[in-house]
Amino acid sequence: MATEIMGGRMLLAGEWIERTEQINVYNPENNEIIGSIPAGKAEDMNDAITLAQEGKEIAENLSIRERMDILNKAATYIEDNLEDFARTIALEGSKTINEARSETKRAAETIRISAEEARRLTGESINFDQMPGNTDRMGYYFRFPVGIIAAITPFNDPLNLIAHKIGPGIAAGNAVIIKPATETPLSALKMAEAFMYAGLPHKILSVITGRARDIGDVLIESKEVNMISFTGGMETGEKIAKKAGLKKLSMELGSNSPAIVLNDADLHEAAVSTTSGAFAAAGQNCLSVQRIYVEEDVYESFKELFLKEVKEVKTGSKLSESTEMGPVINEKEAERIEKWVKEATEAGALILSGGTRKGAHYDPTVLENVPESATLVKEEIFGPVVLLFKVKNLHEAIKRSNDVNYGLQAGIFTANVNAALKASKKLRVGGVMINDSSDFRIDAMPFGGIKGSGLGREGVEYTIKEMSEERIIAFKILDEDE
Ligand code: NAP
Repeated sequence: MATEIMGGRMLLAGEWIERTEQINVYNPENNEIIGSIPAGKAEDMNDAITLAQEGKEIAENLSIRERMDILNKAATYIEDNLEDFARTIALEGSKTINEARSETKRAAETIRISAEEARRLTGESINFDQMPGNTDRMGYYFRFPVGIIAAITPFNDPLNLIAHKIGPGIAAGNAVIIKPATETPLSALKMAEAFMYAGLPHKILSVITGRARDIGDVLIESKEVNMISFTGGMETGEKIAKKAGLKKLSMELGSNSPAIVLNDADLHEAAVSTTSGAFAAAGQNCLSVQRIYVEEDVYESFKELFLKEVKEVKTGSKLSESTEMGPVINEKEAERIEKWVKEATEAGALILSGGTRKGAHYDPTVLENVPESATLVKEEIFGPVVLLFKVKNLHEAIKRSNDVNYGLQAGIFTANVNAALKASKKLRVGGVMINDSSDFRIDAMPFGGIKGSGLGREGVEYTIKEMSEERIIAFKILDEDE
């Protein structure tokens, strides 16, 4: 089945609309224009919010069965048009075609899990009589939608991160307004196409394209919007949180994740896993491995195995079946990465591999001897750069892993169950992977970070909880005449 091309239009409350002013969408690999989208303005966002007030009533009144049917139909549409969705992701973003296919499959799965979880949107009975004086009360709570969800998404997973907001949003009975990243809006519009095909009633969903500076504040500051579900950088998250006022916030932010390699680890496995964790999606993944702490007696052996793996990462054109790593999202970002690496080398760091840039392509890069004060250690690089550190023992590895303002996920490689347990207790993160890198996620698990990595948890079941609210129903049993 062929899909419609949605270039040039955005979705306002279920209607595809055009605007004269357009923003070009580029392929970062060659700067070719691959499409365009309306440059939405504050009035468009205001219209979306006004119409979503009707949309939230319609969404709330959809039965669970209707929500499930729509979600399942949308998932089938994505599966049936997998190659088309994958090409869109690969063209507008920086993923290779194989990475894009895998994201498309996951997005369909996320929507299907949402359909399944809609069934479990339940409450439970409450024992009011645990407090003295309440023996004549009975009741329960049930979950109700929060109303209007503002979903703001980043460029790096342009389809599945939309799925993580729209699927649970609809399963929980909300209206959803999506503001996709300006660099990768076409995947979001394709997701909207799937929901329109699936028969989602109009007014429940809007995808308003445009620059954050034109449409961001209207959405964030609106008193009609009940929840902001944001995925993106820490600085943006902080700005949004300051402006949002009294509304629910879910913040999925960045990280500079650590991996710990102990001297009893399977070093080959650790090298393969951390290479993939560091360079998948050209390192533009919130879960990317950025800092690797290796026990000193195996440091040299690990380094050798790791560098061998890194040299084998095939870079090149994103649409080629054999490419494993494409460019970063634009040349400006590649230049920033280059600058951070230069700052580190000027402070004494050594480049073991890579360190070169051509346009938006930055080679898989490994450094050692990076001083603790370097931006590369403290901040999120969000590019294909990884740092190796020698540590004395697990204690030092944990301490240094925690010594940053992020805490999304971490990995530890060891055969020692005690060390694994200790790390899982002491690492200040949202998830610890044993014998795997931080770069592991399934869409049904609770996912999120602490510190600068976020607030709340995504993962369909958990998002549905965040996107719904408990309402208590308490009956007082009155005496009847005997
Ligand atoms: P970003 O610059 O923070 O942008 C994310 C989204 O926020 C975009 O849609 C952007 O719109 C919008 N935005 C920017 N400034 C805004 C403002 N003042 N008000 C309202 N919206 C605003 O992030 P990015 O560069 O696209 O993505 C990379 C970041 O996302 C990394 O830090 C990565 O770790 C994080 N991330 C986290 C997770 C997670 O689940 N924890 C997953 C993926 C990515 P414009 O495009 O129009 O600027």
